[in-house]
Amino acid sequence: MQNSLNIIIIGAGLIGLSSADLLVMAGHRVTIIESNCGPVYGSSYSNSGMLHPSQSWPWLINEERGDAGTSFRLVHQLALRSSIVMKKVSARINLSNQKIKTGCFKIYKDFETAQNAMSSYKINNINSIQVMHELDTLGYHALYFKEDKWGNARKYGLNLEASLQKRGVNFIYNSGPLKLKEKNMKVYLDLNNHIIEPDHVIITAGVSSSDILKQLDLELPIKPVRGYAINYDKPVMSLPKSPIMDSTSHSAMTVFDNHLRLSGTYDETSETALFERWSKLAPRIIHALKPAKEIWSGLRPMSLSGKPYICQTQVPGLWVNTGHGHMGWTLCSGSAELITEMITEGKVDTRFQIDT
Ligand SMILES: Cc1cc2nc3c(=O)[nH]c(=O)nc-3n(C[C@H](O)[C@H](O)[C@H](O)COP(=O)(O)OP(=O)(O)OC[C@H]3O[C@@H](n4cnc5c(N)ncnc54)[C@H](O)[C@@H]3O)c2cc1C
Repeated sequence: MQNSLNIIIIGAGLIGLSSADLLVMAGHRVTIIESNCGPVYGSSYSNSGMLHPSQSWPWLINEERGDAGTSFRLVHQLALRSSIVMKKVSARINLSNQKIKTGCFKIYKDFETAQNAMSSYKINNINSIQVMHELDTLGYHALYFKEDKWGNARKYGLNLEASLQKRGVNFIYNSGPLKLKEKNMKVYLDLNNHIIEPDHVIITAGVSSSDILKQLDLELPIKPVRGYAINYDKPVMSLPKSPIMDSTSHSAMTVFDNHLRLSGTYDETSETALFERWSKLAPRIIHALKPAKEIWSGLRPMSLSGKPYICQTQVPGLWVNTGHGHMGWTLCSGSAELITEMITEGKVDTRFQIDT
């Protein structure tokens, strides 16, 4: 094996933790710097929980930076790879209190709309079956994606962090102001007047990644796209067994072990639209809920090319792994494997470069 490298990762979300895991497995020394007081407080904190390669189509694309079809194919491929890697990671770390489960539903207003959607998915090599079930699809016509999976992303991240702690990864929480610097084409950090000179730095800071790179005049086009989550105690009644996506509002209902979560939306200014939408879609369930335990909002780090940025920047040794948008949980393991190969094996893959 090559020399053990000293690697700094900035950001302890799903992407940073997953990257750390595979870099440590490859024999490298990793430090994670996180501005928050612990891991998984950013966009990864309360997401919809779906590991959904089926939803790889970009939400947002600037046509000067890429075309939707190419982005879809790349992201879909990476999502399928991610699914395989996550299976191995899950088997290795202790996931006893949190299992990854199979299948997601997407509901449509009528049979014909669901049928047309199924044909479009099929053209893109995504298999689904059309179903309608009183409980699991709330009585709506729906597509079932049996290759999709789901699970609690925050619990997964916490398990990963605990496993990394045991394996000697150094975590610096509440890190305070961090300055990225460059000398003789080499990156180094100034953290609270303490100079750190690693072999490599990976920015996995979600929507803040652009600001960090700006310190070195590097451009990283990311649009923060807000989403909400409303968490409830799980009501005592029969509930859908898999997450249900709403085809018209970028939102979902997910029933986890102990709670029910409504989550998603695109650029809304409050959680009200989310609540109102699901009150219409699932009145029987919404009526049975006690007041919300927690209302949260997070910013998805959305690239403008519809695909994540997983690459080295113009500064040697400075890398990015971010911009995963609505797909970060789905893509975290595959993105981690890709960046590990690039850094440790010198693998060249230009498909996820920054489009400026
Ligand atoms: C409502 C909602 C629902 C979603 N549902 C799904 C879903 O079902 N499936 C799916 O695949 N994806 C989903 N996503 C998207 C997914 O959650 C994100 O893409 C993913 O969490 C991004 O992870 P990340 O590690 O890049 O960013 P983050 O989780 O935001 O982590 C970045 C970390 O960097 C830290 N940081 C920032 N600046 C600094 C700094 N200067 N110094 C040190 N640390 C710093 C932050 O504190 C944070 O902890 C959803 C997102 C939202 C908001």
